[in-house]
Amino acid sequence: MTQHAFQAETARLLHMVVHSLYSDREVFLRELLANAADACDKLRVAALTEHGLLPAGETLGVEVEADKDQGTLTIRDTGIGMTEAEAVGNLGTIARSGTKAFLEGLAEEQRKGAGLIGQFGVGFYAAFMVADKVVVESRSAKAGSDQAVRWESAGDGGFTTETIARTARGTTVTLHLKDDAKEFLEPSRIRFLVKKHADYMGVAISVKNDKGEWEQANAGTALWTRPKDQITEEQYEEFYRSFHLWDKPATRLHTTVEGSLSFTALLFVPSERPMDLFDRDRRGLSLYVRRVFVMEDCKDLLPEWLRFVRGVVDSDDLPLNVSREMLQGNETVAKLRRQLTKRVVDHLVALGRSEDEKDTTAFTAIESSFGPILREALVNDQDHKDKVARIVRWPSTWTTAPAADGEPARPAVTGLEDYCRRNQTDDKKIYALTAPSLEVAKASPLIEGYVKAGKEVLFFVDPVDEWVAQHFRQFDGRDLVNISLGASGLDESAMADKAKAMEGFLGFAKDAAGVSEVRLTARLADSPCCVVGDQWSLTPQMEELLRRSGQPIPEQKRILELNPDHPLVQKLSALHADEGKRDQVKDWLGILRDSALLAAGARPVDGAGLAKRVQGLLAQAV
Ligand code: ADP
Ligand code: MG
Repeated sequence: MTQHAFQAETARLLHMVVHSLYSDREVFLRELLANAADACDKLRVAALTEHGLLPAGETLGVEVEADKDQGTLTIRDTGIGMTEAEAVGNLGTIARSGTKAFLEGLAEEQRKGAGLIGQFGVGFYAAFMVADKVVVESRSAKAGSDQAVRWESAGDGGFTTETIARTARGTTVTLHLKDDAKEFLEPSRIRFLVKKHADYMGVAISVKNDKGEWEQANAGTALWTRPKDQITEEQYEEFYRSFHLWDKPATRLHTTVEGSLSFTALLFVPSERPMDLFDRDRRGLSLYVRRVFVMEDCKDLLPEWLRFVRGVVDSDDLPLNVSREMLQGNETVAKLRRQLTKRVVDHLVALGRSEDEKDTTAFTAIESSFGPILREALVNDQDHKDKVARIVRWPSTWTTAPAADGEPARPAVTGLEDYCRRNQTDDKKIYALTAPSLEVAKASPLIEGYVKAGKEVLFFVDPVDEWVAQHFRQFDGRDLVNISLGASGLDESAMADKAKAMEGFLGFAKDAAGVSEVRLTARLADSPCCVVGDQWSLTPQMEELLRRSGQPIPEQKRILELNPDHPLVQKLSALHADEGKRDQVKDWLGILRDSALLAAGARPVDGAGLAKRVQGLLAQAV
């Protein structure tokens, strides 16, 4: 017999499972049955290439048996099994990102004071919610009968393993139930729980009744293969949980397609960001071929910008022995992906446009959790960007302005169709400002002139929006204008005369401020100045993104725009006429430039100098 210590993380998890999980303890059964069903799936997959593993005609199954005299509950499967090394690795460490994320999320849960902990899956370790001793006996499908393993633990500190003889393939998990968990010895209670938590699993689960007879307790057919009207909301949700997601899905799409391409898909969009969203290896679509599980985390079935969609796809057209390598460049997979993408996009568009309150709530949740990911389509999916453009949303000068008297509260974000409806102007433009945050955008001097002219400006404040602004140039015949780059698009006709009157000053200011150009603008109302780039420049945020990724940044055009109606600008212009004041004016222009750069979320040219000058001014003022 060998003694093993649990990995530190596992020990922490176990401690918590044993000491603080009291509610919803019944989910231990779901977790153990899911493992048993997974083990059967894995054996089926392995047997595709190693024919000896699963004798022809043998059906796989799971059995649950209670022994009231011993106080034990046993879950038995005829699946892939484990070798001793696998048992040590799999039942002593936490590999699954879902479980790790659970641990990390738990601190948060506790802070929120939610008593929902029991709803979470903690995998195999959930057994210790109800058992004070767990014994696992297993023989790998690939090992001889003298190479089976017994794994045993009381859930504190460590576990033991030893080699045993075992003829049966698969795994037997025996729980020595705690005194307060004896309810799980009642066959009727077990049958009820199997139905509740494991009905969707694609393997038959039998429970031994009081008379010693076996009774199948679940449907034993995969949920998505059943007619929609025979599936309850609870069953859908239970199935959703099998993806290690614990929120309520915002929406689901259950669709069967028959024709030149035949498949069934049952897909969900979570309402909250899953904790493993940024884990590139986990892209939750599981692939089945004619009801047989083939692989999880399949990345080739949807584009990357739909990576928040979770669920299963069951294809009738792929070969059973399809591998990850084969999926790439496979014609059928490409077709499947096109069809699935179209369906998901159409579904999202329908939700986004629906007036139904339930749909609106669902879409709002999806938008706020995954909006930036969805907007990636505007940048890199030529085929879908026009459709996606109809549902993506941003905050704007309209959404952030107070509602007028009697007007209903404004939404937090708005879409392009609504923007165009509200802004029926003949300039055929859509104005957007990219900024590092909503606060910076709202306070930006750049929007003043647009607001004054009654034009709405969208706030592009997520990093992805920088790329959107660069690559998504048109919507419904209107040009998208990034107002921090290039001409304002406003009526600048009054500026020519004013510029003439200040010609000398503008030339002086260009050299004094060390910028590419100084010009007057109509885009300012209350502020004296702002800094913009030309049409081909990088925005300050883009510059920052590139800088952070270590890329060289070409010299940028910086245009200092002045408000000719602002008293400060007028005074500086007048002062500059006096030769003796020029050094002073130059200094002040430097402050103006750097403060304008700061307001745009950019780095000042001379931060230390700016600080010194502002402090000097303050000293005088105080
Ligand atoms: P997860 O199922 O999310 O991977 P678990 O904690 O439930 O996490 O299980 C850990 C691992 O232990 C599984 O991934 C699997 O490799 C192994 N395992 C658990 N139960 C069984 C079983 N009945 N048959 C074979 N392997 C199992
Ligand atoms: Mg599991």
